[in-house]
Amino acid sequence: MRTKSVDKLKTNTKPRVNVVTLGCSKNVYDSEVLMGQLKGNAFDVVHEAEKVGKNDIVVINTCGFIDNAKQESIDTILQYSALKEQGKVGKVIVTGCLSERYKPELEAEITSVDAWFGTNDLQNLLQTVGADYKHELIGERLLTTPSHFAYFKIAEGCNRPCSFCAIPLMRGKHVSKPMDELVTEARKLAANGTKELILIAQDLTYYGLDIYGKRNLDELLRRLSDVNGIEWIRLQYAYPSGFPMEILDAMNERANICKYLDMPLQHISDNMLKSMRRGITKQKTIDLVNQIRDKVPGIAMRTTLITGYPGETEQDFNEMAQWVEETRFDRLGCFTYSHEEKTHAYSLEDDVAEEVKQERADAIMEIQQGISFEKNQGKIGKTFKVLIDKKDGEYFAGRTEFDSPEVDNEVLIDANLHYATPGSFVNVQIDSAEDFDLYGQIVK
Ligand code: SF4
Repeated sequence: MRTKSVDKLKTNTKPRVNVVTLGCSKNVYDSEVLMGQLKGNAFDVVHEAEKVGKNDIVVINTCGFIDNAKQESIDTILQYSALKEQGKVGKVIVTGCLSERYKPELEAEITSVDAWFGTNDLQNLLQTVGADYKHELIGERLLTTPSHFAYFKIAEGCNRPCSFCAIPLMRGKHVSKPMDELVTEARKLAANGTKELILIAQDLTYYGLDIYGKRNLDELLRRLSDVNGIEWIRLQYAYPSGFPMEILDAMNERANICKYLDMPLQHISDNMLKSMRRGITKQKTIDLVNQIRDKVPGIAMRTTLITGYPGETEQDFNEMAQWVEETRFDRLGCFTYSHEEKTHAYSLEDDVAEEVKQERADAIMEIQQGISFEKNQGKIGKTFKVLIDKKDGEYFAGRTEFDSPEVDNEVLIDANLHYATPGSFVNVQIDSAEDFDLYGQIVK
């Protein structure tokens, strides 16, 4: 951490702090923790305020994952630095993954930033703005999501060796949070009206191995499921190799654990899986998906894939496209490979042309669009429990237990015909469907 003289940042009347979050749900979580601490120190704290204030301290929580995300972070830093130069904001502080990964280079390049912090620097950041880290606020945060759902980070960092991934460089080794702390945090959230917990980590299924000597995500799930007021518990970022099947028992036992599983699989050809150091084979992946579907009938599976990884041949790609057609995931996202320095794959030649990477990603998403449309047609006439997220134009928008916020399908209800309170559950009978959205009527 390097700051200009601390005194300059501390003022006698506390300036407003405007927190800007880029990147993934884990960054959202970190921003919320920071905001909770600032509020606990009597700061006026806002999230991505439209109007800036000339005394504002702007804290930008950056992403350093892949090229596009890095560029977005740099553009945001430059945007606020320009405002500072114009005297429209007071101070600019940068934290998060991009700063963790490229601090020396960024400091040299963007000198108008007042302070740079890494991903594990909360106490120093707070001190720099004149706040103290308050232990009594552990588990408390200011939600930036609608209060009825909250991202729930159960661990930080990752021990996996995936060749393309820079996350361990920015987030360090896997560290699980103690279960009692997590249960206390869930109780506080539920007491404030949160109904849905979206469990996140770099590798959810590694939970407990470090602090309890065994995988015990299933035990954590049952304890969270016992928390009064929590109606949905959702799992994101499961890892395939060594997948703890016992979490599916908890899913079958407990109605408030969503029959939903996000498991990034990245590729399917053995050639690619080996080079990516994923620790799993094609056949084992196929068997795992089948076992999960057998064990939890009707489970919605989401996955994420990469196209254009070094050495990916037309044949590797066709193998993946055919597998996507056959496996018919409920939800799927696809990234193009980004050549990230200091990752293992950086020593390989980035030999797939950018346009070919993109063509392949588009082709995969086209297949998925067709699958999603067909699956959605199958939902017409059926009734689902829906959590209303917001009013959006002419519609109330919500989700079933098979949909995560921001990335999955929405259920749209005509607001001229129905009224629903955001944060409430309603039963919706589906009467029409598109590729990624469902339309329906509220029924008793
Ligand atoms: S599991 Fe692999 S892809 Fe995911 S954060 Fe860890 S190293 Fe990266």
